[in-house]
Amino acid sequence: MEMGQEDLLALTENVINEYLQEGSIEGLSLLMDPDIIAYSHLNVNYVRGDWNVRQFLNREYERLSPLSLNRCNMRCTMTGEGASVVARLILTCTKAKNLIFLNITVMYKFQEDDCPVITGIHIERDYRHENTYRSVNQGKLNGVVVDYLATYDELTGIYNKQAFYAKTKEMLLDNPDKNFDLLRINIERFKVLNDLFGESTGDKLLRYIGKFLKEINLPLCVSGRLYADNFVVCYEAGKGDSRRMINTLQMVADSFAINNRTILSFGLYRIDDKTLPVSVMCDRANMALWKAKGNFKNPYCEYDEKMRQQVLKEQKIINAMERAIQNKEFTLYLQPKYDIEKGTIIGAEALVRWISLENGFISPGDFIPVFENNGFVYEVDKFIWEESCRYLRKWLDEGREVHPISVNVSRIDLYTPKLVQHLVNLREKYQLPSQYLELEITESAYTEDPEQIITITRQLREAGFVILMDDFGTGYSSLNMLKDIQIDVLKLDMGFLKSSDYSAKGGNILTAILKMAESLKMQTIAEGVETKEQVEFLKSIGCRYVQGFYYSKPLPVGEFEKLI
Ligand code: C2E
Ligand code: MG
Ligand code: MG
Repeated sequence: MEMGQEDLLALTENVINEYLQEGSIEGLSLLMDPDIIAYSHLNVNYVRGDWNVRQFLNREYERLSPLSLNRCNMRCTMTGEGASVVARLILTCTKAKNLIFLNITVMYKFQEDDCPVITGIHIERDYRHENTYRSVNQGKLNGVVVDYLATYDELTGIYNKQAFYAKTKEMLLDNPDKNFDLLRINIERFKVLNDLFGESTGDKLLRYIGKFLKEINLPLCVSGRLYADNFVVCYEAGKGDSRRMINTLQMVADSFAINNRTILSFGLYRIDDKTLPVSVMCDRANMALWKAKGNFKNPYCEYDEKMRQQVLKEQKIINAMERAIQNKEFTLYLQPKYDIEKGTIIGAEALVRWISLENGFISPGDFIPVFENNGFVYEVDKFIWEESCRYLRKWLDEGREVHPISVNVSRIDLYTPKLVQHLVNLREKYQLPSQYLELEITESAYTEDPEQIITITRQLREAGFVILMDDFGTGYSSLNMLKDIQIDVLKLDMGFLKSSDYSAKGGNILTAILKMAESLKMQTIAEGVETKEQVEFLKSIGCRYVQGFYYSKPLPVGEFEKLI
């Protein structure tokens, strides 16, 4: 993938927006080089390393917030092996109501595969411009411009975030006996639209939607643009009003004439607690919006309490995760794999366990998806891979009989530019013959992005790794995939077979898969084997290898060592 200036500008705008508008450094963090450097006008010394830089960014944000972003001009300069993007920003500090001119420079380096990583961030306040602006505008404009910028969104002319919060709060207080809905609106794939049709078209669409929101003819209604393509409107709830509002908005978007259908997604919060800050109400509508985004046919969702619980649970996990690595709260467990006929151990799967000092035992099913969402899974996986290598080396040194360990490679890891190199380095660091470290890649990765998984598995196989396709049969693309992708072992998940199913359809399918695997020269292993009945069935259809509670649970390494 070739990164051009436009892409870099879009990328930078996105992460800076997220940072300044929401205080979120997730986007920036994902791009950080481990050796990143950052400095600001307030710090004499620079800070180094991704963890320190994240702390630094949080501190800087604390200092500036609450703020609203009025203007952002960006310029990109390509250098030999990288680029720098300078964002000139005009912010309103909403507390002090003063304007701040800020320049943020983001320095990128391109990796071998052209993926950019951030190597430096420089935050600099432009006092000179601030002073000029003040001296020119004071007296003459009597702060009118400042007031305007502090209230209205420059692009669309509707309320900006802070003003929306304030006006909505006022409306709710003035009408204690009425009910209100709060609706968040987002443009699907807005970034793509910007890329395809240019930023001016993007701006036009934003103004188009803004214009509609401004002209809504309801007695009690406040609308605003929070940032980028995030709009919000709060109005008196009445029968069917929200549905009508949504249909009308989608019609407005449809009437925006470009060669591309503009789809909006919606998240609704029926305000049931008027004492909440409006920002929290917006968050709730946003949770619903995120849920709606998965639903292409009807991208609309209403907030409910379960969503909040889920988000709280995830937040707890996120809060604890950085410390967890430092506190060594993650541990390696091994689940042995067996030869079904001989009953001997032929290998093991590495599985992570998190025993959190704060929250006790957390199941991978709960935290892996969260870590996959924020990219942290790579940190955990690197740890588990290294632990696995360390033990393999130890056993080889002790002269034991050693069986391969298969480690899980998250579908997110497949997007890490250094993945193949990292694994090769690990194997070299511990001087492991290549047959000992095997890789499990889950089948669902294929559904998401066939190209990526095909390329990476090829590279990994060329580097000598044995590749297992995890959870085979639970996804959608299983059979189709096998013609495109080179796999050594299929891991069949028994979980999806109900006990009554062995002899019926499910059993037939399994038998057919085994035959097919054989003809494609792939090995198979059944996982999640729990009962004697399953074992007998697997034997009868000629499955050679098994893994599951029937044989052994995942074990702490000490116990696993005793077993072999
Ligand atoms: P998986 O890779 O398919 O791992 C097999 C899961 O099935 C493990 O759950 C294992 O404990 C469980 N299992 C084994 N035998 C049986 C059985 O007989 N019956 C049943 N019902 N379950 C059995 P675990 O450890 O909770 O992990 C769940 C999933 O989390 C894993 O599925 C994998 O996708 C992910 N995961 C676990 N550890 C890691 C890791 O280190 N890195 C990554 N990226 N993902 C991991
Ligand atoms: Mg696995
Ligand atoms: Mg599995």
